[in-house]
Amino acid sequence: MRDPRYDILFKPLKIGPVTTRNRFYQVPHCTGMGHRYPKAEARLRGVKAEGGWGVVSTQEAEIHASSDLTPANEARIWGAQDIPALRLVTDAVHAHGSLAAIQLVHNGLHTANRYSRIAPLAPSAAAVASDDPVQARAMDKTDIAAFRKWHVDAALRAKEAGFDIIYAYAGHDMTLLQHFLLARHNHRTDEYGGSFANRLRLFREVIEDTKEAVGQTCAVAVRLAVDELMGRDGLQHDGEAHDIIEALAEEPDIWDVNLSGWSNDSQTARFSDEGFQEHYTGFVKSVTTKPVVGVGRYTSPDTMARVIKSGHLDLIGAARPSIADPFLPSKIEAGEIEAIRECIGCNICVMGDNTSVPMRCTQNPTLGEEWRRGWHPEFIPSLSHPDPYLIVGGGPAGLEAARALVQRGAEVTLSEAGTAWGGRVTLESALPGLATWARVRDWRLWQLNQAPNVEMYLNSPLQASDILEFGMPHVALATGSTWRADGVGRVHRRPLGFLDPDRVLTPDDIMAKGASAVTDKGPVVVFDDDRFYMASVLAELLATAGRDVVFVTPAPVVSPWSETTLEQDRIQRRLIEKQVRIIPLHSLADMSPETLTLSCVYTGDTQEIACSTVVTVTTRRPNDALWEDLLAAKEQWDDAGIRSVRRIGDCYAPSLIAGAVQSGHTYARHAGLEEEPEPLREDFGHV
Ligand code: ADP
Ligand code: SF4
Repeated sequence: MRDPRYDILFKPLKIGPVTTRNRFYQVPHCTGMGHRYPKAEARLRGVKAEGGWGVVSTQEAEIHASSDLTPANEARIWGAQDIPALRLVTDAVHAHGSLAAIQLVHNGLHTANRYSRIAPLAPSAAAVASDDPVQARAMDKTDIAAFRKWHVDAALRAKEAGFDIIYAYAGHDMTLLQHFLLARHNHRTDEYGGSFANRLRLFREVIEDTKEAVGQTCAVAVRLAVDELMGRDGLQHDGEAHDIIEALAEEPDIWDVNLSGWSNDSQTARFSDEGFQEHYTGFVKSVTTKPVVGVGRYTSPDTMARVIKSGHLDLIGAARPSIADPFLPSKIEAGEIEAIRECIGCNICVMGDNTSVPMRCTQNPTLGEEWRRGWHPEFIPSLSHPDPYLIVGGGPAGLEAARALVQRGAEVTLSEAGTAWGGRVTLESALPGLATWARVRDWRLWQLNQAPNVEMYLNSPLQASDILEFGMPHVALATGSTWRADGVGRVHRRPLGFLDPDRVLTPDDIMAKGASAVTDKGPVVVFDDDRFYMASVLAELLATAGRDVVFVTPAPVVSPWSETTLEQDRIQRRLIEKQVRIIPLHSLADMSPETLTLSCVYTGDTQEIACSTVVTVTTRRPNDALWEDLLAAKEQWDDAGIRSVRRIGDCYAPSLIAGAVQSGHTYARHAGLEEEPEPLREDFGHV
């Protein structure tokens, strides 16, 4: 039953001509599904409405071929042919009594129009935001009039598709409307440029146009970046952003306010805490009487209630918390607070969109599988023959496999060699900025602790003989992986014989002992050929502990893959601030007692640097010795009553934590099936 403290979260609210049933508002967010996978997109949005989100929005919807984000896969409303796909979304959302919102966008100089090949449009001639060798052309008055018409036409199509809330979008430095607002992009000398009032003109006109076109039946939302975190060169919450909202205060039916660009808006837990935008969005309600929605990776109902009661926001906006747990509102309503699967702020979801594929989520393995595999985030069919299962290893893969099998009614035994549950997430959560990783463990442990049909054993390293003795019909090995100490990674494909084992440490060593694992006081070289977060986190830890740290990588920048999670610039900045010396574009060539020889990846030229210890962050070996031992004893399986043995998670193939969770979940979903089903394929563009 709902705790009365949270009643305020369930109060309906009028937004212009429509009313939302509660204060849970899934703000526009990308999914990587967009116009190419409309059924998957619609099912995902429908699941959120089913989970209780009162408003469910699309991702940005390109209004015209001159705003073509290909190869990214966003929503598209170029013409009437796009309406049926969008109608799938509104039907799915309306089926559960929620409002459907669409974020119309023209991306201006943000996109190079790679597919449509139309010259990009901008207030003033300028390079596009990407590295494409393409420039946007300055719009003349005819172009401005055409753009206004495209926006109105798109709004009318959106209404026809059944949307209840239609956005004018000026955020993330990705939209033409924002480009016109900003003096750094808008150098015009006509009535659309120069003074603040002139730069505001187009935004005001588009809001008015949209209201006039659809405002009788649809709410008009405005999404505005209230701070770009770049000082006077950008919008500031106590500068022009404040003035914009003051000037247009009562124009839209709702203000959706956030930080810009996307890497500021979707900061990871490594760099921000829940509610991190409040400082910037706090003023908005003081200058408008219209409802205000904002985000801040809110997962705690106490915080949400506080934010609304304190008059900071009217609606709790969420992208990532709604991805990690589409049923977050329903769980608060049912008083099942511990059942909320809290977002860990890792941005693996963002990685999906940034690599133009359907998103996945570390916490929610059903994300992106709602349509193609028919997976629901809350329900799994019970097993018709719930055989006993033995899961070996209590990391993310083992915990998720056990949890989902228990949910399906199987009798599960979970055995963990160590003194704590969680495997790598427990270890990694002790590293700087990664504390929320522990939520992957905690949510699953909480679920398992409620279940009568699981037995869990810590301090229980199993060997093949133990498993044969137990004779469980089904065995899943989730024994994880171990970081290599021989340098093998992407650039070095063979072991580096010159590495002195006495002076080489791996992430496992540092996670076991912290900075004290480095006993020698001399310079520590962190060699990163993994290229995601781990090496940078270790460098930060060692530098914070006062060590002299050199970061060497064959890549051109620190942690290049973290560009996909929007963290790269913050990570590199932090290492610079911690006085870590960064040497990019070098591999390892030799090692002597006090030095390391590096080799330029382009020329092969070498240089020696002082080094007492090397921390190699390259690749991991699967811990599959147990698997090999069991295979060697295969002729004993029948007598022992063993029918299947599988490897899951990092023991099968080291990957992201999200991969381990997905692997455990897939194992449990496919339990009892003769054949593992293939995911459905969606015909591009067909509904
Ligand atoms: P994954 O990401 O695939 O879940 P982890 O490395 O996080 O992998 O977790 C693997 C877990 O398996 C670790 O907690 C480890 O202690 C445990 N483990 C490894 N070998 C055994 C074994 N033989 N018996 C029981 N537990 C084991
Ligand atoms: Fe949150 Fe990570 Fe899931 Fe994204 S992938 S919703 S950041 S837990």
